[in-house]
Amino acid sequence: MAVVGKFGVEDIAQNLARVRTQIVEAARTSGRSPEDVELVAISKTHEAEKVRAAFDAGQQLFGESRIQEARAKIPLLPSAARWHFVGRLQRNKIRHALPLFELFHSIDSLELARDLNRVAEEEGLHPRVLLEINVAGEGSKIGFAPVALQSQMEALLELPRLTIEGVMTIPPLAAEAEASRKHFVMLRDLRDQFVQQFQITLPRLSMGMSGDFAVAIEEGATLVRVGTAIFGKRTPARLRAATDPE
Ligand SMILES: *Cc1c(COP(=O)(O)O)cnc(C)c1O
Repeated sequence: MAVVGKFGVEDIAQNLARVRTQIVEAARTSGRSPEDVELVAISKTHEAEKVRAAFDAGQQLFGESRIQEARAKIPLLPSAARWHFVGRLQRNKIRHALPLFELFHSIDSLELARDLNRVAEEEGLHPRVLLEINVAGEGSKIGFAPVALQSQMEALLELPRLTIEGVMTIPPLAAEAEASRKHFVMLRDLRDQFVQQFQITLPRLSMGMSGDFAVAIEEGATLVRVGTAIFGKRTPARLRAATDPE
């Protein structure tokens, strides 16, 4: 599958239309309703003008991964735009992050969940969150190890301010979309297992990026996080350093 979108503002509407068509096709071929799959347009590193082009083309839901960048960008976009956080949340950024985002995809430890719960209580807020799971079990990867989550779920469920709505994963980078399938299946199976075991609902499955979102949808994704296929390639971090101190 061709995954690299074009660069200019004028191409974003076209890229978005293509991604939307692919979402509908993947949902249909797997017997799912396209309405059950939400597209999160990952706008990190892209300037407000490009995000605006996507908004004007009908996209209202965006994802950011750096608080500092999001704080600068979000006020430049129409208030009808909605924002999800998909990056690593540093504890000293939680207070700034809370009012900006309607869903946090990437709660990756009990410590972070506790910090978020505490700050949310101080701020009088009730954040909605997903638990990021490292299903591939790679040492370097972020996220709960499945076994650790198993033993920490009770403690997570006791945090009164957090609404845990589902799970998220980032599979290892692979050249082939099919390589991600087993990780998506593992995430869904884990979700099903936790739902049974803890008698909870976890309706949201956040999985699939530009290279593999069609496969993720076939395996049950309800949120796909697509950046490059909509906005084009991101500028390497080292070139952003001056404007993005995080
Ligand atoms: C950047 C990012 C994406 C988007 O990746 P693309 O390959 O550009 O679609 C998705 N999820 C997370 C967590 C990200 O950080």
